[in-house]
Amino acid sequence: MAFFFRTAERALQETRRVQDDHQKIQAELDLLKRSVEHLKLVNISLWQIIKEHKGLQDVDLQKRIEELEKFYHNEAKPDQCVSCAKPIHIKKKRCVFCGAEQTRPNDIYHILFDK
Ligand SMILES: [Zn+2]
Repeated sequence: MAFFFRTAERALQETRRVQDDHQKIQAELDLLKRSVEHLKLVNISLWQIIKEHKGLQDVDLQKRIEELEKFYHNEAKPDQCVSCAKPIHIKKKRCVFCGAEQTRPNDIYHILFDK
């Protein structure tokens, strides 16, 4: 009988632990959802301003997004080291061969991929 109660108590503790974990994860998820919604609003606002000032259309944005998606997911090409000219990945801040710090143009690809 004592064995049954110990097992039941352990099962109850595990259930509480899983419920606590679930609550924490749900709170983090809610926070992330609010952050995403805020970022979405910021993006929409920025795009409206850019469209007004630069005379761009939604199709221009769509085209750029598709370019970036293609680049990011499928076609990240090697870049050349600014010092030794060996091929290194475009995301690398330092050359894996000579250790030189890579200075690249301040374009959207590098802004997105620099961490
Ligand atoms: Zn190098």
